[in-house]
Amino acid sequence: MRIGIYGGSFNPVHNGHIHLARAAAEEFGLEKVYLVPSRISPHRSSAEYVSGGDRLEMLRLACNGDAILEVSSYELDSDRVSYTIYTIKYFRSILPDAELFLLVGSDMLMCFEKWYRFDDILSEVTLCVVSRNEGDLPQLEEKADKLREFGNICISKAKPLEVSSTEIRKKIEKNENYACYLDKNVVQYIRLKGLYSLRGENKFAL
Ligand code: ATP
Repeated sequence: MRIGIYGGSFNPVHNGHIHLARAAAEEFGLEKVYLVPSRISPHRSSAEYVSGGDRLEMLRLACNGDAILEVSSYELDSDRVSYTIYTIKYFRSILPDAELFLLVGSDMLMCFEKWYRFDDILSEVTLCVVSRNEGDLPQLEEKADKLREFGNICISKAKPLEVSSTEIRKKIEKNENYACYLDKNVVQYIRLKGLYSLRGENKFAL
């Protein structure tokens, strides 16, 4: 069984995240991809902060009906700092026979050696990287070559879908249109709960 693990803040989950998960699943033959939202420390006065429960719910809405994508609350439920190596060990413990793949976007590959126990991570999983920006593939190949002494790294051929959660949060705050970057049920959820807006309103949401 080939299983993908895909962590992130997903604040909120957007089409770029789902594109990465589906592209990696198709290209690397993954039977399941677990999307694992991380803990974020709350900034009380900022509209940027939404709860783990809201991020989890938005992920569930975005993955609903997809047979491959599954949401895991493992890191949100955990009572310690959720370093990726622990998450990998958790999945290894519940899926002892699986071949594990860790999915990341290009920005994460570029800083990968700063991750806690990155060498142990690379001895446990194959790292699958999906480009975030047009034209970044040569840079990704060069970086992957330097890290390959620690383990397997695959670079996806999928075209990038250039969007970030930061960009979406800014658009919501400025009351600009953002619906085209998100699943329609996620848009509706954000609107109903007034997320990411200091005024608690999103007039372009639907
Ligand atoms: P923020 O703007 O808040 O930093 P983000 O859009 O970068 O958020 P995260 O939830 O931090 O999203 O990212 C989780 C993972 O998804 C990371 O590995 C990141 O590289 C990857 N990722 C995010 N957006 C894209 C995208 N558009 N295409 C490919 N990978 C992406």
